[in-house]
Amino acid sequence: MRTHYDVIIVGARVAGSTLAYELSKAGYDVLLLDKTTFPSDTLSTHNFYGNSLAMLREMGVLDALLETGTPTYKRAVVQFEDAVIDGDFPAVQGETDCLCIRRTHLDDILFRHAAAQDRVTAIEGFRMTDVIRAGGGETVTGIAGVRRSGERESYSAKLVVGADGRGSLLREHVGSKCKGSVPTDFASYVGYYSGYVQDGEMHVELYKLGDKIGIVFPTSDGLYVVGIMFPLADDAWMKRFKEWPERAMRDIVNDGFANTPLPRRMKNAELEGPIRGLLGYDNDWYQGMGPGWALVGDAYSFKDPAVGQGMQDALYGARILTDVLSGYPDWSACWAEMAERYQTLMEEKMMFHYHLACQFTKNMPFTAEQTAVNRLIASDPEATRAFLGIYNRATSPQEFESALMRLSNWQV
Ligand SMILES: Cc1cc2nc3c(=O)[nH]c(=O)nc-3n(C[C@H](O)[C@H](O)[C@H](O)COP(=O)(O)OP(=O)(O)OC[C@H]3O[C@@H](n4cnc5c(N)ncnc54)[C@H](O)[C@@H]3O)c2cc1C
Repeated sequence: MRTHYDVIIVGARVAGSTLAYELSKAGYDVLLLDKTTFPSDTLSTHNFYGNSLAMLREMGVLDALLETGTPTYKRAVVQFEDAVIDGDFPAVQGETDCLCIRRTHLDDILFRHAAAQDRVTAIEGFRMTDVIRAGGGETVTGIAGVRRSGERESYSAKLVVGADGRGSLLREHVGSKCKGSVPTDFASYVGYYSGYVQDGEMHVELYKLGDKIGIVFPTSDGLYVVGIMFPLADDAWMKRFKEWPERAMRDIVNDGFANTPLPRRMKNAELEGPIRGLLGYDNDWYQGMGPGWALVGDAYSFKDPAVGQGMQDALYGARILTDVLSGYPDWSACWAEMAERYQTLMEEKMMFHYHLACQFTKNMPFTAEQTAVNRLIASDPEATRAFLGIYNRATSPQEFESALMRLSNWQV
């Protein structure tokens, strides 16, 4: 087997497989590695908005994703205390629908799609353990790792990319600088339910009431995925979730979301599989490139799951990195310039939503001003569309602000 490539990608879920596909289309030879095998699950509520559907269609993979029978939907019901924002997502690149496809399906289809490209060599069950720097210099020139069978192997490349998630080992090895980090105040728990019944058209539900956040998406295999967040500092709920998570999930829905349709809809629903939790995480972003290495997806930046931006940013990041690399014929002569360009483009694309996530991640009640704005959005279909467009990137922050200004001037 060959041992030298243009690019080695460590991690082969949303960020890694998408990047492998994009780089192969741009004419690069890629080695795609993951310590896991596919299909396999990972903790996520996994919703894609319309902008991602447009990218997945362009990648030629959307039809395969839809063939899993996972339903699409275009409606959102967001309840911020007493303000209920109910409407359809605006179209973005011709797509109005969202798709919340289980990671067992999604990551497997993305991985197989990447692996099927002529220029991609893919290895499952290979764990990267070390980064290689030829001649003891600072430029990364390869990786070493171990197969599940126990065989140790090493590979070299012009560039090694960390698509290895939130706790990226590659990031640690290359010493990427953390450029911002905001710890969450919340614990998150996720479960899959059958027999969950919504009223009317299928939709995403998002609730923020007091110090609790709830989210529900229709997903694959006839299930709904329910995510609940409550403060890490709440010892009573922490204890109950640790002791008996299935029971705690039901109790917190009945207790914390009593003024919403959630308890009624959950009443006859049955839990399918375990309740899984994530106890604390940082909203962070890192230096994205250095000599011989780069980061994409969660390895570059993790954002609070409540804003649902992680997977689309993984898709955007794969495209941005491919564009940057394609612009430079000799990478070895231009690391500093490429790194600056990559950082600038990534930050332009992602910083607004990173800051949004940093707000969501703090256990702060809505201010009087925010409450007034939430009610204003809920009262007006155009403002509702503009608000939902912030999530699927149909609306720029400036357009959203203009929609609010128009409404508040009109109401004075
Ligand atoms: C509770 C929760 C809910 C979420 N909900 C949403 C949502 O609704 N919408 C959304 O867009 N985002 C959501 N996210 C975020 C989303 O899950 C991530 O942004 C996304 O998974 C990032 O993809 P990735 O490919 O960068 O990393 P990952 O999905 O973490 O994949 C990393 C891969 O790297 C591999 N790997 C790691 N280390 C090594 C190694 N040493 N050697 C080889 N392989 C390695 C792992 O096996 C893994 O397969 C949620 C996250 C959480 C935690």
